[in-house]
Amino acid sequence: MEKLVVYNTLGRKKELFKPVNSPSVGMYVCGPTVYGDAHIGHARPAVTFDLIFRYLKHLGYKVRYVRNITDVGHLEGGADTGEDKIAKKARLEQLEPMEIAQYYSYRFRINMDQLNTLPPSIEPLASGHIIEQIELVKKIFDAGFAYIVNGSVYFDVEKYNKVYHYGKLSGRNLDELRANTRTLQMQSEKKHNFDFALWKKAQPEHIMHWTSPWSEGFPGWHIECSAMSTKYLGKFFDIHGGGIDLIFPHHECEIAQSQSANKIEPVKYWIHNNMITINGQKMSKSLNNFITLNDLFSGKNESLDKAYNPMTVRFFILQAHYRSPLDFSNQALQAAEKGIEKLFKGIDTLQKITPSAISDFDVKIFKQKCYDALNDDFNSPILIATLFDGIKFINSAKQGKGKLTGEDICLLKEIYNGFVFDILGLKKEENKNNEKFDDVMKIILELRDNARKNKDWSTSDKIRDQLLKLNIDIKDTKQGATWELEK
Ligand code: ZN
Repeated sequence: MEKLVVYNTLGRKKELFKPVNSPSVGMYVCGPTVYGDAHIGHARPAVTFDLIFRYLKHLGYKVRYVRNITDVGHLEGGADTGEDKIAKKARLEQLEPMEIAQYYSYRFRINMDQLNTLPPSIEPLASGHIIEQIELVKKIFDAGFAYIVNGSVYFDVEKYNKVYHYGKLSGRNLDELRANTRTLQMQSEKKHNFDFALWKKAQPEHIMHWTSPWSEGFPGWHIECSAMSTKYLGKFFDIHGGGIDLIFPHHECEIAQSQSANKIEPVKYWIHNNMITINGQKMSKSLNNFITLNDLFSGKNESLDKAYNPMTVRFFILQAHYRSPLDFSNQALQAAEKGIEKLFKGIDTLQKITPSAISDFDVKIFKQKCYDALNDDFNSPILIATLFDGIKFINSAKQGKGKLTGEDICLLKEIYNGFVFDILGLKKEENKNNEKFDDVMKIILELRDNARKNKDWSTSDKIRDQLLKLNIDIKDTKQGATWELEK
């Protein structure tokens, strides 16, 4: 197997990837809270972890990829007070919370499919795992790291920190947190502001609630990921992913919960993708720069010049390393659009090269360079740059300025198919008429060729001129006539 190195947020350095139970790999990624349409902020983790999923599978690992759907417990502002995001939407639209969750989960999956991300192996719902969450809260409480106030259960961060280390992932420490939150919120039930809810007693107006040993209530936001990752991947698994905005408090709290219950740190490699900004600004509803994926694909948003193909969006995301910030603009998207076109065109050109007796391009070294890029913490921009270097050579070979043997042409086709379509997950726009169109063009070019052989120049010129009117450009080369659709 290739030597893969990944950047681990825990420890902040690159480490050799060695799965806990090779060749099995367990990967958990925090999924969406389904109360609105997916936006470009959702596209980045989806594409990032899809690349990781695809590459690990390509390397021969047997990957179980779990991405949850949060349909309960995520309160406004991400804190312990405030209205549940899904319940609020349900109230405003006079629907059942589960109708909201079902509607937006369905639309999320369509968007993910458009981006050509593979479905996760398991997509568990938080509301479908209430029993597991209650059991986990019991375990944490029995271990002595939780306290009960008025039917709600809170995690005792200070007590946990005496035994383990709270802040390990985010680099924050308790003294700092204490200094920042000296004034305890009025009427707060918590001992400290940095404590967090494991179970909340439901207020009478709260529509989503379940029976528990402590109260009729609902789970805290962080507990679902601990419960579901343990259930499907075990107490200690390989990869936990998400956006950097989730490092604190969400992932820090996940570690605290799992470790206090299971007495073992839950995750070997923490992988976090950076954020997307829009024209240099953070995306937010208040800044009025909120762009959903449906907006992007349809062009229906005043900040967009036009509609963008999902593959353009995917390519745009992959052109940056997942740990670098990525700025979204019409200009950048249009550059990505041109880039992906050039890449696909180069792959097509590969089919049209006449083989030579020798090659002046080292395909084996080229292949290794592609692997080296991804083996260095999934460096997709370096991979894409390498693929473009190859395209440059392919184009020069087509013009007779470089040579490739038939064997090397086959090998290059294999490399491009593997890296571009299987691993980067790009795909050409389906056009069922394309193949037929190719066949028709073949017939027309043959007729024109016959006319030329018979020195019937008026017919051959007429065919060429008429096709040009349809933006089909015919070029006569030594090997015969070729055609190209002009844009
Ligand atoms: Zn999570």
